[in-house]
Amino acid sequence: MLTPNRHYGELKDSYLFARIAEKTADYLREHPGEKLLRMGIGDVSQPLCPAVIQALHGAVEDQARKETFRGYQSELGTDFLRAAIAEYYDGRGVSISPEEVFVSSGASDELGHILDLFDPACPALIPEPAYPAYVDASILAGRRIIHLPTGREGGFLPDPSGAKAGDLIYLCSPNNPTGSVLDRERLRAWVDHANRTGAVILFDAAYEAFISDPALPHSIFEIQGARTCAIEICSLSKTAGFTGTRVGYTVIPKELERGGMNLRQMWVRNRTTKSNGVSYILQRGAAAVFTPEGQKQIHETLDIYKRNARTLGETLDKLGIWYTGGKNAPYIWLACPGGMGSWAFFDRLLAEIQVVGTPGEGFGACGEGYFRFSAFGDPADTREACRRLETLLG
Ligand code: PLP
Repeated sequence: MLTPNRHYGELKDSYLFARIAEKTADYLREHPGEKLLRMGIGDVSQPLCPAVIQALHGAVEDQARKETFRGYQSELGTDFLRAAIAEYYDGRGVSISPEEVFVSSGASDELGHILDLFDPACPALIPEPAYPAYVDASILAGRRIIHLPTGREGGFLPDPSGAKAGDLIYLCSPNNPTGSVLDRERLRAWVDHANRTGAVILFDAAYEAFISDPALPHSIFEIQGARTCAIEICSLSKTAGFTGTRVGYTVIPKELERGGMNLRQMWVRNRTTKSNGVSYILQRGAAAVFTPEGQKQIHETLDIYKRNARTLGETLDKLGIWYTGGKNAPYIWLACPGGMGSWAFFDRLLAEIQVVGTPGEGFGACGEGYFRFSAFGDPADTREACRRLETLLG
C-alpha cells in the first residue's frame, strides 16, 4: 500500500498567517464595516513600475507575431535575464557569471526545491525567529532541524560562535521578521564557519534592495570565501513588486562542491528535469527591473516603504518601545510593551485600534513577547496606524 509522506504530520497545525486571517475575519464579522489597518502580512501595496509594465506589454505583443513568438524557454532562465542579473551584481563589485544565475518563480518555490540538492539526513541549522517556510520545508523533506535562538541582547543577530554543527545553514539578511542585518564582519564569520565545517549556507537575500547603509553587504558573495560555501536566493517580490507576478533568481557558484559533486551542475540537472522555466513574458518584465530606468523607478517605490518604516520607527522611539529593523529593512520587530505576550498584544491592537500586526511567536519560540510590523502598507494607513498607536500606548 502507498505510504504518504509522514512528515506532513509533524507540521504545526495552524500556519501563522492563517490564524491571523481567522482572527481578523472574526473581528470583522462582529464589527461589520470597520476598516482594519493591515501592518501584518508582507505583501506589497504599490503597483509594478512603468518600465516593467511596458516590457510586459511588449512581450505579449512578441507572442502575437510569428516572427517574434517564443515557445519553451531555457529551464535555467533566458540569456537576456541571466546576463542582466550578472551585470547587476557586477555593479556592486561582485563577479558572477550568467551561468551561475538561475531564474526562478520566486524565493519560496526555490527555498523548497533547493533541498533536493542535499541528503535528507543532513540537519538544517535555522536561526530563529525565522521565516516559517524554512522550518516547514525542512520538516517536509524529513530533515532534522537545529534551532538557533537569537535574542534582544544580541540584537536578534545569529552568531556562529553559538552554532552547533548543521550541514545546511539558513541565513536571511535583511531579516524577516526582525529587520536586523548581518554586517560584513558577522557574515564573514559565518562564511568561515561554513568553509571550516563543510556546511552550505542558504543565503536568503529577498530584502537586499532595502539596504541604505553603504557599509552593509547586499550579497553573501561580497564576502571572500563565499563562493565555496554559499547559495544565494533572491526575489523580485519585494524589490520590484513581483509578489503576484512571480520572478526570482538563485546564484550557485561554479566552485561550490561537496562530496566530490558540483552543486551548480546538480542544479542544472534538477531544473532541466523538474521545471520548464519561467514564462518568456515575465522574464521580459523582470529584465526591465535591471535597466537604468527600471532601477530608478523601483527605488522610487522602495522609498515609499522606507518612509513608512521611518514613520513606524519614529513612533516607537517616541513611545520608548525597544525595536530592531526598519532602517535597512521593511520590517520592525518590537518588544511588546508591558511584557505582554505576542498574541495578547495582537488581540489588543485589533480590538482597540483596529491595527493588525504579526505576533513574534509565530516565527519561533524565541519570538514570544515580540511583534512584527511591516512597512509595505499604504502610507496613509501607516501614518494613521502610528497615530493610533501613540494614542493607545502614549
Ligand atoms: N524569503 C523571505 C525571507 C520572505 O520574507 C519571503 C516572502 O515574504 C520570501 C522568501 C518569498 O518570496 P517570494 O515571493 O519570492 O516567494
